[in-house]
Amino acid sequence: YYQQIQEDERLKTTGQLAAAVAHEIRNPITVVKGFIQLHETDKQLPDHIKKHYKLMMDELYTAETVISDFLSLAKPEVSEVETVEVKPALYNVMDLLNTYAHIDTIQIELDIEDYYSIQCTLMEFKQLFVNLLKNAVEASKHGGTVRVKVRKVNDRVQIDIVDQGVGMTKEQLKRIGTPFYSLKAKGTGLGLMICFNIVQKYNGTINFFSEEGKGTNVTVAFPLIKKTTSR
Ligand code: ADP
Ligand code: MG
Repeated sequence: YYQQIQEDERLKTTGQLAAAVAHEIRNPITVVKGFIQLHETDKQLPDHIKKHYKLMMDELYTAETVISDFLSLAKPEVSEVETVEVKPALYNVMDLLNTYAHIDTIQIELDIEDYYSIQCTLMEFKQLFVNLLKNAVEASKHGGTVRVKVRKVNDRVQIDIVDQGVGMTKEQLKRIGTPFYSLKAKGTGLGLMICFNIVQKYNGTINFFSEEGKGTNVTVAFPLIKKTTSR
């Protein structure tokens, strides 16, 4: 039993450390990108140098994607909160997506009435839903809508993410979540592996219903720990 507690504590600090490292890597990348952007518009630049700048930007973009798929986009919190209020946390996730991903042509609709809380760290909650929503947005066509629906089902909070995007075949569905499995030109294939780990860690469930050409419905459920009616 004692050993188990130590193991959990170690996992927690590893997660925090990883998020802190990700943050420290992201900052210098942002600085370098800023300087490249400053110089790449210089009219006197020879074409081959412009090409090098473009390659540098692409590589930095790839590095950023690996960091954000793998680790939280958010700053690591100093004191980890073990209880997440689903409603504000999902709004937070949508804000993050708006600043980090370019989703101007795709609408995300959030349908949630009550204040449900679940057991999870805010960092991992964000990591989970940023990855799931990013996938839904990336699968959607321009002008598409992604719907997020939250409701109580028995003693669990169920969060549905529904898109009308490209969908998946049975064969593709079988392979999601395996490391580096990606059908995207610039995918990392790490996002869903991370999601499955987080869901499992907090006694949740995650299920995918998908049809090629029709869209995907991801259903995530966590044990409900408390409901606050007035706020
Ligand atoms: P990545 O997004 O970097 O490709 P993920 O692990 O997040 O890696 O997803 C793996 C693969 O699963 C994606 O490349 C895509 O083919 C498929 N996938 C995941 N979510 C969806 C979705 N909502 N609609 C269609 N395909 C999806
Ligand atoms: Mg992804």
